[in-house]
Amino acid sequence: MKKDRLTTASGIPDAQNQHSQTAGERGPVLIQDLQLIEKLAHFNRERIPERVVHAKGFGAYGKFTVTNDITKYSCAKIFENVGKETELFARFSTVAGEKGYADTDRDPRGFAVKFYTDDGIWDLVGNNTPVFFERDPLKFPDFIHTQKRDPETGRKDPRRMWHYWSLSPENMHQLMILFSDRGLPDGFRHMNGYGSHTFSLWNKDKERFWVKFHFKTDQGIKNLMPEEAEKLAGTNPDYAGEDLFKAIEQENFPKWNVKIQVVPEEEAEQFDFNPFDLTKVWPHGKYPLIDVGVMELNRNPENYFAEVEQVAFSPNNMPPGIGASPDKMLQGRLFAYGDAHRYRLGSNYQSLPVNKSKSEVNTYQRDGKMRFDGNYGSMDNYEPNDFNGPTENNDLTEPPLKISGNVDHYNSHKGNDDYSQAGDLYRLFTEDQKDRIAQNIAASLGSSSKEVQQRMIGHFEKCDQDLGTRLTKELNDH
Ligand code: NDP
Repeated sequence: MKKDRLTTASGIPDAQNQHSQTAGERGPVLIQDLQLIEKLAHFNRERIPERVVHAKGFGAYGKFTVTNDITKYSCAKIFENVGKETELFARFSTVAGEKGYADTDRDPRGFAVKFYTDDGIWDLVGNNTPVFFERDPLKFPDFIHTQKRDPETGRKDPRRMWHYWSLSPENMHQLMILFSDRGLPDGFRHMNGYGSHTFSLWNKDKERFWVKFHFKTDQGIKNLMPEEAEKLAGTNPDYAGEDLFKAIEQENFPKWNVKIQVVPEEEAEQFDFNPFDLTKVWPHGKYPLIDVGVMELNRNPENYFAEVEQVAFSPNNMPPGIGASPDKMLQGRLFAYGDAHRYRLGSNYQSLPVNKSKSEVNTYQRDGKMRFDGNYGSMDNYEPNDFNGPTENNDLTEPPLKISGNVDHYNSHKGNDDYSQAGDLYRLFTEDQKDRIAQNIAASLGSSSKEVQQRMIGHFEKCDQDLGTRLTKELNDH
């Protein structure tokens, strides 16, 4: 078989790719050796900044199929009719570890889905937990600093996390999930996904509904025991990525049943807690899950860097019929994701193949670094105009949202119950699960000062007295 000719990146046929050009047999090398200089220079630039969070991840392509009519809630084209299929790309990740970190760390898992809808990209950028540690985006960098490395030693140190958590009770609900069995999911296929935030759907009559998205694994929940997870961290740090890739390669396509909880706009005002607080769930008893469709992953990426590393999810990619909510954390993320992508990938990141909308894109934005498409050729670039440029469609405007109140820095701790829902979860655990969560917490909290331990026991007691008792015993035995 004829082999392609080797060239430089500029297409110049390459005569030598094995031996550098030198002055004399023993060197030195010459700067005129184009292939040598280009190879070394490009190699130096192979890495782009890794994501500060969710750096380690794996992904796959698939499809979303509508199984139930929810057009009374949303006019989004993705939900247009039962049976409709939409292509998607999903990326799963750990949060705190760097790109080379082990997949089996006790850490929430990112669960991000990019739907290529007929009305552009919809990015649902969630986690495998229905809640989060924080409810105010101002706290996010502080929280993440505690998950990362100690500025003095460069090492991870659980004492920093527990010190922070002991002073931040809004974290209790997420901690109850993180230190339970589900804190160590067995790969990505056996965990649920959640949009976590409150989002909105709006229908053709411009009625708004607040919603939460749930992706229930069809493979069943499966978790690792701490000893297994620790062993895998040493023997196969890419365990979850391997599991996902192999399952798809063997045509054992993973599926998730997509569901929503719905609250009519006016009903949200009657909640006895803030329905836009990311540290809270909406009880299923009151707001049951409604079927929407099925997500299936069925095609592996061909190039990890091009597809998984360069995929860029942004929660503010929401086509008409889907919208945001006043959730403060969501509002912070609406800014932060696009900002991160512009830093990591450049201002034209939406034109990269994995990020590009499959429906028509027409904007008046131009130029910028790495503009690798035609940059709209000779078409002029301003509006209003009478040269027949693209125009807006006012029918697609989101319904207005009434907001009231004084501008201020409101203290979200005031009158907020950080313990009841965390306790509700604890009370669902079996006796074995209750033992294990106490052991898992003690194993991590054990190296902290007595003062921090006492503060944490106090918080866990407020969730459920029984957990406080078990934890005290575990810490004493530690
Ligand atoms: P329900 O009994 O109706 O729901 C309990 C939920 O807890 C189910 O979704 C179940 O998920 C999930 N669950 C069971 N075991 C665990 C675990 N070890 N870690 C995490 N989740 C688990 O009760 P409520 O809706 O009233 O919620 C009670 C508590 O359950 C909440 O405070 C919250 O902590 C947790 N929860 C609630 C969710 C919600 O949206 N309402 C979603 C997830 C958790 P599954 O069906 O997949 O087994």
